[in-house]
Amino acid sequence: MNIHEHQAKDLLREYGAPVSKGVVIYSLDEINDKILKLNSKQFVLKAQIHAGGRGKAGGVKLIKNINDLKSEAKKLLGKTLITHQTGPLGKKVKRLYIEEASEISKEFYLSCLVDRESSKIAFISSVEGGMDIEKIAIEDPDKIVTTKVDLKDKIEDKDIEKIIKPFKFKKEQTETALNLVKSIYQILIEKDANLIEINPLIVTKSDEIICLDAKINFDDNALFRRPEIIKLRDFNEEEPAEVEASKFDLSYIKLDGSIGCMVNGAGLAMATMDIIKLYGEEPANFLDVGGGASKEKVKAALKLILEDKNVKGILINIFGGIMRCDVLAQGVVDAAKESRIEIPLVVRLAGTNFKEGKTILDKSGLDIISAVDLNDAARKVVEAIK
Ligand code: ADP
Ligand code: MG
Repeated sequence: MNIHEHQAKDLLREYGAPVSKGVVIYSLDEINDKILKLNSKQFVLKAQIHAGGRGKAGGVKLIKNINDLKSEAKKLLGKTLITHQTGPLGKKVKRLYIEEASEISKEFYLSCLVDRESSKIAFISSVEGGMDIEKIAIEDPDKIVTTKVDLKDKIEDKDIEKIIKPFKFKKEQTETALNLVKSIYQILIEKDANLIEINPLIVTKSDEIICLDAKINFDDNALFRRPEIIKLRDFNEEEPAEVEASKFDLSYIKLDGSIGCMVNGAGLAMATMDIIKLYGEEPANFLDVGGGASKEKVKAALKLILEDKNVKGILINIFGGIMRCDVLAQGVVDAAKESRIEIPLVVRLAGTNFKEGKTILDKSGLDIISAVDLNDAARKVVEAIK
């Protein structure tokens, strides 16, 4: 789960990291009151969307007086911002962050993430801040320093020294820098974050260190024990179909292709997507109904697929283990009664109760194409939509 910059900065502030003062607004009439909480003469107005690259896309504006603040806020609120991270449809700006402006002397990059390969926490430091780290990794890899630290309750000073070394901070800045790294590490551990990215981390003209941008991503599988983080979820930023899917505890990811897939088990779902591609089509989604899916869950899953206007054919691929094929079949029949299926539907059932499942489907009067295995299923659905 991602959160907004202003929420990430609140969390950093709570952990003692240096961030500027700022206020968040959802409508223009909040500006007059909220601005009183800030001391500076110049502000930066920042569109709050779950995507980076806002600066280049016109989503970050330097504001020199209150009147400009209002006119710029008016332009930005409700605008659809397209950045290199939003995809071509962009994201609608529904809240703005007004932050005190800093006088930047240097911009660095600092991030902290879970490195699954080494089972460690990796810190990435670069003196090339404010830019795309991916771009620097390709064009100037020597400018990226990766420090891997063991997963412990606290980070050790010798590791922190390695992490901040590239920044060549002055002696009097060292303590702030040490504390900053400690705060980031502590947030990652205590809040089950996957990634914390400060880009840029700046040094101001008066030698202050400040986190000027902040992105935090949390481990979805740990959210159940972080109610304070779940509260920060912004449904506006998520694909509506994925929000709907999460209500039914379905693992659903919308994709751009034309074959809707319903599968049980993530591995089988991946294999199903692969084989659709092998036969020359693209999957419209990843959808794992899980191990012991109920009839209601199957019904919800089929509805999700049918609501996607790009879907031209459906492939249901179930390997019954804990999941029973008859339960699946009943769910499909019930869903089909509620929303008419006017596109080809290919079903491959194997495993627990597959015969009972097949009988339910055969008796339903639905126009279903049966398949015997994965190959057969993929070939049939691709042929059927042609
Ligand atoms: P994004 O990464 O989405 O483009 P950032 O928050 O990194 O957004 O802002 C882009 C750039 O805008 C920063 O690299 C920095 O140069 C400038 N900027 C952002 N916030 C401030 C601020 N409070 N004061 C001065 N400049 C800022
Ligand atoms: Mg940034």
